[in-house]
Amino acid sequence: MLLAMRRALLAILACWACSEPDASVAPAGERQPPSLVVILADDLGYADVGFQGLRDFATPNIDRLAHRGVRFTNAYVSHPYCSPSRAGLLTGRYQHRFGHVRNPKFRAGEGLPLSETLLPQALAEAGYVSGIVGKWHLGDAPRFHPLERGFDEFFGLLGGGHDYFKSAGADAGEYLIPLEAHGEPIPVEGYLTEQLTEAALDFVRRHAEQPFFLYLAYNAPHGPLQAPPELLDRVNSIGDPRRQTYAAMVTSLDDGVGEVLALLEELGISDGTMVFFLSDNGGPTPANASDNTPLRATKGTVYEGGVRVPFVLAWPGHLPAGSTYDAPVSALDIFPTAVATAGIETPANLDGVNLVPYLLGAEGAPPHEQLFWHSDEGGQFATRTAEHKLVRVLDREPELYAIGEDISESDPASEDDGRIRELFRAIESWHADHPPPAWPGTRGERPVHPNTAKGLGADQAELDAWMARRSE
Ligand code: CA
Repeated sequence: MLLAMRRALLAILACWACSEPDASVAPAGERQPPSLVVILADDLGYADVGFQGLRDFATPNIDRLAHRGVRFTNAYVSHPYCSPSRAGLLTGRYQHRFGHVRNPKFRAGEGLPLSETLLPQALAEAGYVSGIVGKWHLGDAPRFHPLERGFDEFFGLLGGGHDYFKSAGADAGEYLIPLEAHGEPIPVEGYLTEQLTEAALDFVRRHAEQPFFLYLAYNAPHGPLQAPPELLDRVNSIGDPRRQTYAAMVTSLDDGVGEVLALLEELGISDGTMVFFLSDNGGPTPANASDNTPLRATKGTVYEGGVRVPFVLAWPGHLPAGSTYDAPVSALDIFPTAVATAGIETPANLDGVNLVPYLLGAEGAPPHEQLFWHSDEGGQFATRTAEHKLVRVLDREPELYAIGEDISESDPASEDDGRIRELFRAIESWHADHPPPAWPGTRGERPVHPNTAKGLGADQAELDAWMARRSE
């Protein structure tokens, strides 16, 4: 029975995969490619959804999504903070390949380089209508606007965050400028997370008859910590007021996920719609009272607490419900998974992988032999395989962890010099042809390009000296 079902699913997928790239909008009566919803939380803690072990409040709707699909137990984003992570997600490429390694400064003319193709641009080939609701953070200058990057609709905030209750004039700061809705400035009305949910529901209702891509990028639970009394009341068993406010913000996000799922069901398109849920980076635990247990460190670091995230893919009727997948996966995989499922030829320059054949068991090997991270704040590099992770922070000794067993990165597995050298070389090779950052930093970032004096690639002598010290 299961085998027959799997064969039927593979046949359906093969049918989509073999459709011509220019077979854009399917004629009436023919099967359409599946619609796509990507729900992105902002700064959500690793332990702060029910299926990750949350204890002090509940996320029943995000959990329901997980029960309807595949929960990834080794899932990562490609950067430990907001904008570079989103650049990777929407291009399917390590953002280091195009210099997008820092947050763009507001009103500084910085943004995701125009050389890159974004997911909505690719999906347009198959007749998708694409909308972003929520946080953009990939450049606020007109040429970087979401409507110039393949999205047909934009409702949300251009910058890196926003006040949840109010907005001011156009000259206000990044977190207080008006929202934008279909080309017009509008104020925050009510509570921002609920306002974004309403906009998402409106998008789905208007486009339910055609393949759509909804990028629902909530800015919750990113700071500022703000929630209305009725939401705070729902989590009033939490004694710490900051944690209570954070929990109320996540509760509103969870409500939104529930409303989107309910609408898909009401419209009869739940089984045909692929839904991803993830966070853009780990929780900044001191800043927003999030909880990354059992991971080490926080947003901004290449330790697991910065880059390992809750991650779900639900595609009811197509992927096994209530299952888990343990091999490492990446937010970079969303782009190729979406375009392959839409029947579009996958661009050759992607770093992500179409996950569907792996989830159906048609591919037995892991999707990635190795994943990489680099943040120039503090000069941090890391790579992991199924078994090992090497963390390399400039001016500190390399740290090797048996990450398959030591998820908390608590016990350096320093006995394996050969493995350290191998992973060190892999980082060096991965990073070697990355261009310099596309714009200047603001927070004391250090030059770490191999062509610079202190770059990783110039560290052969330093590595040798360290190895020699260890063997003494
Ligand atoms: Ca973030």
